[in-house]
Amino acid sequence: MLKDEDRIYKNLYGQHDWRLAGARARGDWEGTAEILAKGRDAVVEEVKSCGMRGRGGAGFPTGLKWSFMPKTSDGRPSYLVVNADESEPGTCKDRDIIRHEPHKLIEGCLVAGFCMGAHTGYIYIRGEYYNEYLHLMAAIEEAYSAGLLGQNAAGTGWDFDLRVHRGAGAYICGEESALLESLEGKKGMPRMKPPFPAAMGVYGCPTTVNNVETIAGIPTILRRGASWFANLGRPKNSGTKIFCISGHVNHPCNVEEELGVPMKDLIEKHAGGVRGGWDNLQAVIPGGASMPILPKSVCDTILMDFDSLKDARSGLGSGAVIVMDKSADVIKAIWRLAKFFKHESCGQCTPCREGTGWMMRMMAKMVDGSAEISDIDLMETITRQVEGHTICAFGDAAAWPIQGLLRHFRPLVEQRIMDRKNGAMPLAAE
Ligand code: SF4
Repeated sequence: MLKDEDRIYKNLYGQHDWRLAGARARGDWEGTAEILAKGRDAVVEEVKSCGMRGRGGAGFPTGLKWSFMPKTSDGRPSYLVVNADESEPGTCKDRDIIRHEPHKLIEGCLVAGFCMGAHTGYIYIRGEYYNEYLHLMAAIEEAYSAGLLGQNAAGTGWDFDLRVHRGAGAYICGEESALLESLEGKKGMPRMKPPFPAAMGVYGCPTTVNNVETIAGIPTILRRGASWFANLGRPKNSGTKIFCISGHVNHPCNVEEELGVPMKDLIEKHAGGVRGGWDNLQAVIPGGASMPILPKSVCDTILMDFDSLKDARSGLGSGAVIVMDKSADVIKAIWRLAKFFKHESCGQCTPCREGTGWMMRMMAKMVDGSAEISDIDLMETITRQVEGHTICAFGDAAAWPIQGLLRHFRPLVEQRIMDRKNGAMPLAAE
């Protein structure tokens, strides 16, 4: 288990003061100027060597991403954009960082902005996070008053302004290029890539988009040293991560743990165990709604990190662990996710716009058993025609939960269809 002294987030549960005085008492804003005095290249190298991989879902190495930003300006400014749109079902970690530890994020923005040559940062926060927005705005005001933002921010010699933009409730605005479109005041529709944001991001200028948890963790890592962070977790899966454990557990919670923690330990030690005991576990979605579901047999031994979940043909995603005991109708649960993805598709590419509706309707037939056995293979084919054939990763996100269901629970789907044919009438999808 992660030792208390190795936690980055000491106020994750909001038991202490979230304002500047409390944050300072926890070590935030300590020696920020000394960190930046090492110079841009040295700090980026340290972020590379700590092994931090983006905590938003994709797991791309953070230092490497920062190094894509131009070193010299061609006349255009560079921007940092923080993705606080947190809309992945089951995920609520950035929310707790913002409401209980906003200064970690603000200090992280200054450090990241310096590392990418940006004098302005934008935090794009999910519109529904109104109370979190109020905390964030209050903390930013405190930071300006204390000279931690603005000209010569925190005595670093670097000018840095931070602005907050509220979203309006579309899941797709969590996709980085859709987020940039929305930030510019347009409809949140993903852009074709390339060009990537580091070449042409917000307002046509070099931009890096990072997740809240990624940015908020950086100052602590730099204070404690890259090797401290790199030695936590497993090789190529370094450091700590906030997991959001929900569903059929006795104590749903957010908890910071080392990457590579066994899923069983995570659920049993932090979330009070599965309702009715571990043997009552049916399945877990390990990384938010878009990651393929895993049956208990896999959950018994799986480690919670990027690579081991990928090897199990699922993913760490946002770290949202959705637990289902044996009372859950997993077919209906996956139909519900299909309905969500159908609703949230931005509609600009055909495989996603049409495919998500098709998948949702076929899933409904699998819930009530009115599908044919041959529909199972047809469904698999449809998911393959959506996956990898769209402008953004949303198409994959809509296809993967269904693929996971068919991979691990096909006998259950077949049984449902046979039951219906034999006269049983399972529940309807709605
Ligand atoms: Fe929009 Fe879906 Fe295409 Fe992404 S994959 S651009 S959400 S239609």
